[in-house]
Amino acid sequence: MAKVGRPKSNNPREFTIPEIRVTKEENRMIKLKAALYAGNSVAKFLRMAAEKYKEELPDEKCLCGGKMKVVLDTETFDYEIADEKVSIKVNNIPMYKCENCGKMKENLFLMAALEEAIDHEIIRSMRERQKIPEEIDFQSFLEVKTTSKENKKVHV
Ligand SMILES: [Zn+2]
Repeated sequence: MAKVGRPKSNNPREFTIPEIRVTKEENRMIKLKAALYAGNSVAKFLRMAAEKYKEELPDEKCLCGGKMKVVLDTETFDYEIADEKVSIKVNNIPMYKCENCGKMKENLFLMAALEEAIDHEIIRSMRERQKIPEEIDFQSFLEVKTTSKENKKVHV
């Protein structure tokens, strides 16, 4: 017997983000914005908001007293896949560099999330029988590739 159900999406929503506790005011704001911008769907509104969110990173202070500024750096991640060594270069990773002593500081939470993103990229490439990329731009992980018409823009 043929399976009946939703048509298979080529970009399924198979992950769930944790429940988020909010105040009464935040709840009101999110519901109003979801009604205004996202057809009353809080989930859709949060996806749209996450996709749009971008912020200038503030300077930090180095232990030497110097000012640490954001620079875009490249890191190489090494993997062993089916007894083969694979190196993936990720370009444009935001890091801090001290203007005074030259010390570099990376964001450990960012690096952990980035490693997870690369893992997913490797698995996706293997599943779709594509070559594992040798080079990835960090920025490409900050975008959602979508082909649907769901996000057609109407500005209010
Ligand atoms: Zn320094």
